[in-house]
Amino acid sequence: MSKIQKIRGFQDIYGENAKKYRYVVDTARKIFEKYNFEEIILPFVEDVSLFKRSVGEATDIVQKEMYVFEDRGGRTIALRPEGTASAVRAYIEEGMYAKGGYKKLFYEGAMFRYERPQAGRYRQFHQIGAEIFGVDTPMADAELIKMVKEILDELRIDVRLEINSLGSFEDRKEYINHLKQFLETKKENLCETCQTRIETNPLRVLDCKVEQCKEETKDAPVITDYLSEKSLERYTKLKEYLKALDIEFTENPRLVRGLDYYTDTVFEFITDKIGAQGTVAAGGRYDKLVSQLGGPETPALGFAAGVERLMLLVETLPEEKPLVVVIPVVSDYNIQALKSSNLLRSKDIKTETLLKEGSLKSKMKLANKLNAKFVVFVSDKYELKYMDTGEQEIFENIEDLVDVLNEKI
Ligand code: ATP
Ligand code: MG
Repeated sequence: MSKIQKIRGFQDIYGENAKKYRYVVDTARKIFEKYNFEEIILPFVEDVSLFKRSVGEATDIVQKEMYVFEDRGGRTIALRPEGTASAVRAYIEEGMYAKGGYKKLFYEGAMFRYERPQAGRYRQFHQIGAEIFGVDTPMADAELIKMVKEILDELRIDVRLEINSLGSFEDRKEYINHLKQFLETKKENLCETCQTRIETNPLRVLDCKVEQCKEETKDAPVITDYLSEKSLERYTKLKEYLKALDIEFTENPRLVRGLDYYTDTVFEFITDKIGAQGTVAAGGRYDKLVSQLGGPETPALGFAAGVERLMLLVETLPEEKPLVVVIPVVSDYNIQALKSSNLLRSKDIKTETLLKEGSLKSKMKLANKLNAKFVVFVSDKYELKYMDTGEQEIFENIEDLVDVLNEKI
């Protein structure tokens, strides 16, 4: 029989990788909770129009990366490509804007994008993310960035922070006009995708990875020259706050992000260690999105980080709890072994009962393979073996053994 394989761009995360996955997500969760964010568990699918109206019709995500299908009821559904749109939909739909509209949410989970798979880029990947609704102060921008930095620091991931301001929608419109004019003069020399982007999504040209495009747009007008006084003031404040929080950053006036909904602050945490897929976390402000999706005017901001990319950068995992393996010397002692394991686990000791039949020698071999730190041999007595030294201790009853073990662990 031929074997069935996983779908291209999808992964089994297991063994060490599963531990890394858990470590990344748990670390983020711990810090979200420390900053008093609440979890929201979002659906995997949404009405496709949610993403068209938020992420944007002209973006790569909507144009070519979404998994869209019709369900049995004839609804056109998309597998979520990102989390912010759903969080905003939920914020509006569940009435979280009541009582002043202030809300801080975090989420984690799988996202789906039909992209070309490569290291750090998959068709199912996972994000951790957070959103703050109902505050327009640059303090909020600074504290969100600080929180992301704290997650990366805790994971001991070395990154640089780039920031930019896209101004208000009005500032951007003005800028885009000038940018378009500039790009028209370079059109012939740009890649094919960028040639169409001049019309559909000119900002995205600045983000193109093709060398020739980078070269040609070196002298393009920069958005920061088009910021209104209000946006400029916010941007200046943000920089002041970041400095006060000892967060290093560089200003990158070409940083535009691929999604339509951003206004004012945008930021990316970037590493050079994993090749072209260097952005590990990214976010920004989206003051118009809530109202665009039918909610009341609500300023908001957020970020998302790619769990798989963070996993590529995590070098050491926290130490695991030592394992105790309980071995019935012969099958006459099976019940006693099961009960001994129960007792150990009730004391929060990580315990594996040796469940396979076989010679004592084969059982010891398996215990070694499982990386046991301690083995408990169960017969008419209890023998505790320290696997690192080979030392053994004999006990008349299991309770005494547990007391000794507890001290060692
Ligand atoms: P990129 O420029 O790498 O395509 P993006 O701008 O499309 O990233 P966002 O939509 O901002 O990414 O998503 C936030 C984070 O999610 C990214 O910084 C990255 O870490 C991660 N991410 C995005 N797409 C993928 C993917 N296909 N596979 C793995 N991680 C991804
Ligand atoms: Mg992308």
